[in-house]
Amino acid sequence: MRTVLTACGIKVVLPWQMLWTERPFFMGVWNIIVASARVVGYNGVYMMRGEETRLMQQQVVDELVARARQARKNAYAPYSHFRVGAALLTRNGHIYTGCNVENVSFGATICAERAAVLAAVSAGERAFAALALAAGEDVTPCGMCRQVLAEFSKDGALPIYCAGPEQVRVFTLAELLPRAFDSFQAEDAE
Ligand SMILES: [Zn+2]
Repeated sequence: MRTVLTACGIKVVLPWQMLWTERPFFMGVWNIIVASARVVGYNGVYMMRGEETRLMQQQVVDELVARARQARKNAYAPYSHFRVGAALLTRNGHIYTGCNVENVSFGATICAERAAVLAAVSAGERAFAALALAAGEDVTPCGMCRQVLAEFSKDGALPIYCAGPEQVRVFTLAELLPRAFDSFQAEDAE
């Protein structure tokens, strides 16, 4: 009896006993496959988890910035003409994008970063790995967006890639929003 293993289009035929006698080898291969699957999101986006988000691969950053720049094209900014796009990478490997949507009342305007957060949360996502924003000049998220991001990054470790026309700067949320307002004690009703 023979066992057929297929991986990456390569077919390997082995006596089935080898699966047992050589199990340390196969377990090693399996562990590499599992570890790789964790690093490579199933939509093809490379990502890291937990603390390693700070060490995000350049390929991930490039993809995220590209998606932010793409989203920027949809910006609705007839009043300021200041167009911004954002791309939010979740720990599940999904990317949600947003753009700024202005309003004649100004106060009803929403930023690209918050638009991306709302899209992600509306889809059931709450664990974020990184955010990229793209604008026509070097900017960082506004205070309101920083506070909204802090709701989902209690430790402030979320990396934020700020892409201008020529450079991409990276900050952690904690750097942009130190001493964030993140909890309060509800008072008894009087
Ligand atoms: Zn904002």
